[in-house]
Amino acid sequence: MRTPSDFIRTRRTFVEEAALGVAGFGLLPATAWACAEAPDAGELESASSDAASTPATGTGLVWDDRYLDHVLIRPDGGRPPEIPDRLVRMREELVARGLDEATVPLAPAAEAMPHIEALHTPEHVASIRELEVSGPVAELAVSGALTAIDAVVAGQVRNAFCAIRPPGHHANNTGAEEGFCYYSNAAVAAKYAQGVHGFERVLVIDWDYHHGNATQNAFYDDPSVLFFSAHDWAAYPRTGDPALTGEGEGSGLNINVHLDCGATDADMLGRWDDTLSPAVAAFDPDFVILSAGFDSRVDDLLGCFALTDDAFRRMTRTAMDYADTCCEGRVVSLLEGGYNLDGTALATAAHIETLLEG
Ligand SMILES: [Zn+2]
Repeated sequence: MRTPSDFIRTRRTFVEEAALGVAGFGLLPATAWACAEAPDAGELESASSDAASTPATGTGLVWDDRYLDHVLIRPDGGRPPEIPDRLVRMREELVARGLDEATVPLAPAAEAMPHIEALHTPEHVASIRELEVSGPVAELAVSGALTAIDAVVAGQVRNAFCAIRPPGHHANNTGAEEGFCYYSNAAVAAKYAQGVHGFERVLVIDWDYHHGNATQNAFYDDPSVLFFSAHDWAAYPRTGDPALTGEGEGSGLNINVHLDCGATDADMLGRWDDTLSPAVAAFDPDFVILSAGFDSRVDDLLGCFALTDDAFRRMTRTAMDYADTCCEGRVVSLLEGGYNLDGTALATAAHIETLLEG
């Protein structure tokens, strides 16, 4: 592992090389990064050539009309803003920008239930399966995530975005919906990448306004998953204490970052630069999963951050830079929150446009 001073020197080198176009990161060098085994400049050029010759190109888009069938109505009749129109409006924006045709369509096909059962308790799964419409759709959301991982591993695409609902990062084992979530999509996907495809170390980055408590819980003592969540600790579910850093062999691999209401692009990206990037460099992942929640965008109905679409472009690019350096570009992104219909559509489009840069 490099010392902090080595890392700073490496990072500066990357910024300089990015400015020269050497590393191919020229557009967004603000959070430029190098992994633990960073090659020198000469090797970077050859790595770049190698990347150009790899078959994995393009961005997959997981979509299924059945994701629109799930309508969340609480027992008291309440209707939270996690509604089908989130995807309808998103789809309109993707079509308007030609992103539906620029991406590779991926229909959820992977068998999800064995992998859901490997993470969740039998009681929880039985309870969710009893839900006539929402149960199957929640299972289909996991299937979409696993299908995206299969496509990336097979080299069908370089990366993928999953326009899935319901979201997953609050789903523990309560036998009911929690925070609009039923199954822990990102956690199941991470374990699937490991158990089915043999990847050893998975990085999960959660930029949703809310803490990814279920993902944290799934890997809290697990040294094979680095989990980073930047969120408003004062908001639901109030579990994202930055003092919670993992335990046992997973100590130091659970990173909770609190951001105040009004947090800006610089606030978020600064924490990526000073906290996430060094952790990723030390961890050296071989697969990257994003819990892409867009309720951290300005003007969300539930969130109070002020992130612009540029922040989502930069976070996406930086996650891709991590993956390009350590994981042959393997990034699978899962939709979590985002409740301002226009805002979520615009931020998602920016996210996908960046993924398409390869
Ligand atoms: Zn959220």
